[in-house]
Amino acid sequence: MFNETSLQEFRGSLRGSLYEPHDKGYDDTRKVYNGMIDKHPRIIVRCAYVADVILSVNFAMENNMLLSIRGGGHSASGLGTCDDGLVIDLSLIRYTSIDLQAGKVVAGAGCTLGDIDHATHIFGLATPTGFMSTTGIAGLTTGGGLGHLTRKLGLTIDNLLSVDMVLADGSFVTANAGQNQDLFWAVRGGGGNFGVITAFTFKLHPIDTVYAGPILYEMSEAEDVLKWYSKLIKEEPDDLNGFFAFLVVPPGPPFPEHLHLKKMCGIVWTYSGPLQKAEERFKQIRAFRKPSLDLAGPLPYPVLQSMFDALYPKGMNWYWRADFVNEINDEAIAEHIRFGNALPTMLSTMHLYPVNGAASRVAKTETPWVYRDATWVMNIIGVDPDPSNSEKITTWTKQYWEALHPYSAGGAYVNFMMDEGEERVKATYGDNYARLVTIKNKYDPGNLFRVNQNIKPDVKAGSAEP
Ligand SMILES: Cc1cc2nc3c(=O)[nH]c(=O)nc-3n(C[C@H](O)[C@H](O)[C@H](O)COP(=O)(O)OP(=O)(O)OC[C@H]3O[C@@H](n4cnc5c(N)ncnc54)[C@H](O)[C@@H]3O)c2cc1C
Repeated sequence: MFNETSLQEFRGSLRGSLYEPHDKGYDDTRKVYNGMIDKHPRIIVRCAYVADVILSVNFAMENNMLLSIRGGGHSASGLGTCDDGLVIDLSLIRYTSIDLQAGKVVAGAGCTLGDIDHATHIFGLATPTGFMSTTGIAGLTTGGGLGHLTRKLGLTIDNLLSVDMVLADGSFVTANAGQNQDLFWAVRGGGGNFGVITAFTFKLHPIDTVYAGPILYEMSEAEDVLKWYSKLIKEEPDDLNGFFAFLVVPPGPPFPEHLHLKKMCGIVWTYSGPLQKAEERFKQIRAFRKPSLDLAGPLPYPVLQSMFDALYPKGMNWYWRADFVNEINDEAIAEHIRFGNALPTMLSTMHLYPVNGAASRVAKTETPWVYRDATWVMNIIGVDPDPSNSEKITTWTKQYWEALHPYSAGGAYVNFMMDEGEERVKATYGDNYARLVTIKNKYDPGNLFRVNQNIKPDVKAGSAEP
């Protein structure tokens, strides 16, 4: 560990802020999104510039410190922090820059998804990200990134053009299709294993007003809804996205009082094709049967993106488990309904996010994200504000996942994992795992970047990639 003089020199060299446990603001700064995570880093550096990131990486390396990287702090497994180590907090590196001519946006690594939507929507443009605007772009992108536009535009990584990053040896590089191609391949799904990304460049698309919102049905109709939905989502053009959910209706507007706190099922639809064709498209959906609630209509894209933010503020207790899914057969539907009827708390839910459409037309080897032939990522999500319910939500989530896992396509999605062990990380990357290890050997042989869904270097094997 370091001595006091070197720490004071380090503190003095930064433009951002450094927090030790006795510093004012430490307790607020150490908190991450998931209230279940309660870690006490030795040092938190709120970096203001790339130089601060380089200084922090060097300090951690020289002093043999555990290092974690925090973008938006949303990792449910708490990977944006650690006990006794150094946290690189990027939340001050929160700028965006648009190049309208080239159709690109550059986002600093501290941006949330909402920051990017805010910067691009004014020009009627968007890049596909996730379902909640408070999530950090950095962790979301390095894991893959799925959301309302996945069927139309692919994953977030499929729209990533370039990154700037600090490597384990403190060097600063750009990785894209023309430079450091191996690194650019690895960061598109390989998580935070390869370095600290300080800036992302994304492709922009003309997305402005979408036709979107939840359409809800009774739990007694869940079997029919799941059968109809799972067929429909495989047949519809990419313009239509919709994730299935079991949920408890929140007790407030815009939900009518007679539905408050009722367990229901439904689909959160997003149609991102020409607006004048939306009603036509929804005629078919509405013809399936009369829903109990239909809130679908035209919405500015950022309104859709932030629709769930208020329901899930920072500090709640989260436990989730996910799998890739190809088919939902009758036995799986029966298990879904059993657990859907047993949602343990008002905010607990189960989502089936489609990853077919545009995301499935990217080759399995083009990025580390190998499950390109899956239809959905199933995410079972236990959430509650009260810590005394943590065991209840965790047990429900694990039991639900164990019941459905036999019907899954296997694998996992690193962004929806807790601490599930090395085998699950390997399963996530399938045949791409060996290549990730080779790139890890080259760029981080000492595994400095290991507070993540870790790809362990195999130093004996060396690096085969040039
Ligand atoms: C409420 C909620 C909603 C979500 N919705 C979606 C969704 O719609 N779609 C989806 O795909 N995922 C979603 N996720 C999962 C989310 O993508 C991951 O939790 C992701 O890690 C969050 O990114 P972050 O920057 O906020 O996380 P952090 O906790 O800050 O970081 C998590 C990990 O990401 C890596 N990382 C972070 N920043 C960097 C960086 N600058 N350079 C290199 N590595 C870095 C590190 O390994 C770090 O440990 C959601 C999570 C939550 C809690």
